[in-house]
Amino acid sequence: MTRTAADALAAATNPTGKVHPLLADLPPAPVAPQAPCTVHTWCVETGDHFEHYSPYVTAPNPDAYGRDVLPAGLTDFHGVTTVGLLDLDLTPAEARDRLAELRAHLNHVEQLITLAERDRADQ
Ligand SMILES: [Zn+2]
Repeated sequence: MTRTAADALAAATNPTGKVHPLLADLPPAPVAPQAPCTVHTWCVETGDHFEHYSPYVTAPNPDAYGRDVLPAGLTDFHGVTTVGLLDLDLTPAEARDRLAELRAHLNHVEQLITLAERDRADQ
């Protein structure tokens, strides 16, 4: 039977889960830095990978329950980049259409705010 370093470490820590005193002072094994993604500049994954993810962006304020508002990000699972928005995987053109709808909605919200301000000014 060939004993590996993993077997030795498991034997030294098992069954208590404590590290054997002779191993406690060993420095952690060096870890090679992971290479950045070679496919997309926006991808946050490193090393070998086939699913690409961008960082998520969200509205600056969470909702009243602490949830992110309008999270969005890019993914590429099969060589096609999609935009994650509104819990949908959209083409860039579809995402632009949804974004235009959201901008129009925000304009309507601003109009409501203006109405509320006028009501307060009248009181
Ligand atoms: Zn990637």
